[in-house]
Amino acid sequence: MTWELERMLRVLLVEDDELNMELLHTVLEASGFDVLTAADARAGVELARREQPDVVLMDLQLPEMDGLEATRVLRKDPKTSHIPVIAVTAHVKKDDEKRSFEAGCVLHLPKPVDTRSLPEIVARVIDEAAERAG
Ligand code: MN
Repeated sequence: MTWELERMLRVLLVEDDELNMELLHTVLEASGFDVLTAADARAGVELARREQPDVVLMDLQLPEMDGLEATRVLRKDPKTSHIPVIAVTAHVKKDDEKRSFEAGCVLHLPKPVDTRSLPEIVARVIDEAAERAG
């Protein structure tokens, strides 16, 4: 349907580090994404429910509720369970990756994020989620 093709793809960034947030925001906006931001997990979950982004980029190290817990909350809620979550973290050991997948993340991206490949990765994750949803 045309309206679906014309709609801007919407990305929600959940990140407590201001510089990293600014970087990701700039890169994704420059690539044509509609970008929403939240500096903590609670605000992120709330925004996801209300704004229905196409994908969430979730920093795992967040104050109070961490990114894995926030991902579990999103996966459990029927309002947000269809939204793919990409984990972003400096912890890149196999165990960390496994924990991300167990929490329901579809991808585990190491920090610092490779900004050149990020827009394509984000678009691909949205595509794959749309295919799964039919
Ligand atoms: Mn953080």
